[in-house]
Amino acid sequence: MARDFKKGVIERFSCVLPVTDKTPVITLQEGSTPLIEASNIKKELGVNFRIFLKYEGMNPTGSFKDRGMTVAVSKAVEKGAHAVICASTGNTSASAAAYAVKAGIKCMVVIPEGSIALGKLSQALIHGASVVAVKGNFDRCLELVREICESYKVELVNSLNPFRIEGQKTASYEIAEALGRSPDYQFMPVGNAGNITAYWKGYCELKESRGYAPPRMMGFQAAGSAPIVEGKKVEDPQTVATAIKIGNPASWQQAVEARDSSGGVIDRVTDEEIIKSWRQLAAKEGVFVEPASAASLAGLRKYLELGKMDPAFTGDVVLILTGHGLKDPDIAVETVSRPPVVEADIEEVVRTAGIE
Ligand SMILES: *Cc1c(COP(=O)(O)O)cnc(C)c1O
Repeated sequence: MARDFKKGVIERFSCVLPVTDKTPVITLQEGSTPLIEASNIKKELGVNFRIFLKYEGMNPTGSFKDRGMTVAVSKAVEKGAHAVICASTGNTSASAAAYAVKAGIKCMVVIPEGSIALGKLSQALIHGASVVAVKGNFDRCLELVREICESYKVELVNSLNPFRIEGQKTASYEIAEALGRSPDYQFMPVGNAGNITAYWKGYCELKESRGYAPPRMMGFQAAGSAPIVEGKKVEDPQTVATAIKIGNPASWQQAVEARDSSGGVIDRVTDEEIIKSWRQLAAKEGVFVEPASAASLAGLRKYLELGKMDPAFTGDVVLILTGHGLKDPDIAVETVSRPPVVEADIEEVVRTAGIE
């Protein structure tokens, strides 16, 4: 199927989604994101296999959350809901707020105070969501909204909502369409673990319907926030990658199942490794992502360095780049040096810019 820029994921993938003719389609034309071959990084790593970047930052609100949100909000409207609610490390709230605007319903957002990247918070606010910052971490925020949903008439649109998972699995279909098969390995960040659950569901369906062998699912948590790797909740998770700063993933069991049935791993990468990969993606491939997304490349590099991935292997490796770099301007500004300031004089500009 050719990429169709006029259609969002519900219209493109209605045959594999829980929608009917009666489902209103609330869309911002999400999905159809680029799958970019990372030939420069391939050269730098000295590997035989092809590396592809699934650039999910190109969704309407700048993250993959839009794929799930179009389905979750459409189903909420179909059911007659007037409001949606979510706990968020940032991107879920940005997405929920935008789709709620499109649907003409209310959006409430509960965020951990001080742990949200500026770009994401401004999105939720500009879309008119009612945002409450809580003195507590993401896990506490999620507990609160789950309780609220038991007593009040609001729809939960966190990834516990099965429609989120359904919408997000469409990314597997797009990758398989582009490659003509499923990849051999998929590296991705893991936070609340909804996304790895969704991709795995998509790949299992593709095996059923088209006979494509599913990839090994290689999930990576941040070292300071790696409950699945450690096998226990992390009370006070820490990492620069705020989108995966989660100590008690809601889809923990499903992530473990994806890992085990695919012959994959869930492992950790340090903040230092994340930042190094984040820079490499920007400097070598022209792809600017938010720090959490770089956990994919950091994971691949780690497995090559440990000798657990064979550089001579020939096949396809996909890295999921979950969110756009402009989401988190603070970290970008902190880690780059300021440009030199000179007089408005051609010779000074030419010399300082190094033009020969
Ligand atoms: C939500 C998010 C993640 C983590 O996805 P989970 O489904 O929570 O595992 C990773 N990166 C970005 C940019 C995100 O927005």
